[in-house]
Amino acid sequence: MSKYIPTIGLEIHAELKTKTKMFCSSKNDPNEEKANINICPICMGHPGTLPVINREAVKHVLTVGTAISGKLADFTEFDRKNYFYPDIPKGYQISQYKYPLVSGGSLAGVEITRVHLEEDTAKSTHHANYSLIDFNRAGVPLMELVTEPVVKDAQQASQFAKELQILLRTLQVGEANMEKGEMRVEANISVMREGDNQFGTKVEVKNLNSFKVVEKAIEYEIKRQSKLLDEGGEVIQETRGWDEAKQETFSQRIKEGSADYRYFPDPDLPKLHISKIEEFSGENLKNILPELPWEKRERYKSQYDIKEEDADMFVRDEFLAKLFDAVAEQFVGGNMLIKTASNYITSDIAGLVKQGGGKSDKLHENISAENFAQLMSMVHGNEISSRGAKDILKEMYENGGVPKEIAEKKNLFQKSDEGELKQIIEKIIEENEKVVTEYKNGKEAGLQFLIGQGMRATQGSANPEVLKKLFENLLK
Ligand code: ADP
Ligand code: MG
Repeated sequence: MSKYIPTIGLEIHAELKTKTKMFCSSKNDPNEEKANINICPICMGHPGTLPVINREAVKHVLTVGTAISGKLADFTEFDRKNYFYPDIPKGYQISQYKYPLVSGGSLAGVEITRVHLEEDTAKSTHHANYSLIDFNRAGVPLMELVTEPVVKDAQQASQFAKELQILLRTLQVGEANMEKGEMRVEANISVMREGDNQFGTKVEVKNLNSFKVVEKAIEYEIKRQSKLLDEGGEVIQETRGWDEAKQETFSQRIKEGSADYRYFPDPDLPKLHISKIEEFSGENLKNILPELPWEKRERYKSQYDIKEEDADMFVRDEFLAKLFDAVAEQFVGGNMLIKTASNYITSDIAGLVKQGGGKSDKLHENISAENFAQLMSMVHGNEISSRGAKDILKEMYENGGVPKEIAEKKNLFQKSDEGELKQIIEKIIEENEKVVTEYKNGKEAGLQFLIGQGMRATQGSANPEVLKKLFENLLK
C-alpha cells in the first residue's frame, strides 16, 4: 500500500449565547423544553416581516475574532443562502458570504480562514413515519468558523475543537456543549500520495457531535480514501455522515457547489461599517478580553511551575481551577506546597468528582480552600501519610469537615512520639532475630522489612521516617 498523507479542514458551528435570536426579539433559550414556544412571525418567516441585526451576536463574533488575532471586517453584510428544507421557514438562511465579520487569525496553531455569523435552522426529529419540527432553534445566532486545510490528523482536529470550546466558554459567548448540539463539527478530509504536491479530492463529514466521534470519523475516512485510491478507485466530492452503530461514514449526498445556493446580499438588512461603530473598535474589544486559555496555561506554568497536564486541566475545568487558585493564594511563595496541592487536585479530587458523576457542586460545598490548604500542610509536615491524606480527602469530599479533626477521629496522625514507638520497635527486633542479624551483616533490605513491620504494628499510623531513624539508632 502506498503511503497517503491526510489533509483536514474544519468547519465548526457554534450557537451564541444571547438574550434574543439573531434577527428578532424571540428568546434564545437552548434549555426551553416545550417545543415552538420561542417563536414570532419574523423567525417563522412570515411574509412582510423585517429582520433586525442582533448587536450582541455581532459583538460576540468580533470578540472571538479579536481573541484569535483575526482581522475584523471594515465592511460587512449579510447574504441570503437559498435552499428548501422544512427546517428553514424563509426558504433561505441569512448568512455571510463575501464579507465575513472576521478573516484570518489562528487558534491552537491552526490558521483560521474566516469566522462569520448566520442563523440556526429549526430542529427536526425523525420518527418511523412522521417527523416533528421545533422552531425554537430557528433564528438562533450561529457562528461559523472555517479553518485552512492545515490540520494533519484526527487528534489535532479534536484538539482544535476542544480549544475552541474552551475559548467560547472563556469569552462567555457560547456554552458549546457538543452533546446538546450547541457546537457542531464538520470535517473536510482528503488524502494525497506521499510526494504529490496537490491536495486530493475532499469529502465533508457532517454532524460530528462529540470529540470522540470527530476523531473516529476522520480516522475512518483516511483509511477508506487511502484504500479506495490504492485499489485504483477515485474519491468523489460528497457529503457523508457518521453511523455510530456501524462505526463508519456513509454517503449522504453529492455536494452542491456554492452556485446552487444563489447567494445574494439580503436587501432587508443594512450593511455594517464595523470600523465606524465605536463599541466594536479593535481597541475596545481588546480591552474587554478576559485572560485567554493559552495565557492562563502559560501563567500557571511560569508562576507555579506546575505540570503541563495540570495547567491544562485547570484551564478546562473552572471548578478545579477555582480551588487551586484559592489554595495557591494561601501558599504565596510556597511553590512546593502549591505543586503538591496541584497534584492532589488533578488526581485525587478530579477522581472523586468523576466518581461522583462529574458534579462539582459537592466539591465547593464540602471542601473549602482553607481546609484543603490545612491538609496539604499536614502532608508536607509528614503529620499524615499520603494514604491517610487520601482517606481524609474522601471524607472531606463526602461529608465536609476539618482535616485535623478527621485525622484525629480516624487515628491517622503519624506517630512520631519516639518513646511510644521505641517499645514497639524493641519488640519487633526481638521477634525478627534473623533479619536483624542479616541487616547488621550489611543486608540493607532488612531495614525496609523492619520498617514495614513497624507500620503494621501501628496500623499505618507511624511516621516511617521516624521509624527508620529509631531502627538505625538501635541497630548501630
Ligand atoms: P467548499 O467551497 O467546498 O465549501 P472551501 O474551500 O470553502 O470548500 O473549504 C471548506 C473547508 O474545506 C475548509 O475548512 C477548507 O480548509 C477545507 N478544505 C478545502 N480543500 C480541502 C482539501 N483538499 N482537503 C481537506 N480539506 C479541504
Ligand atoms: Mg465553503
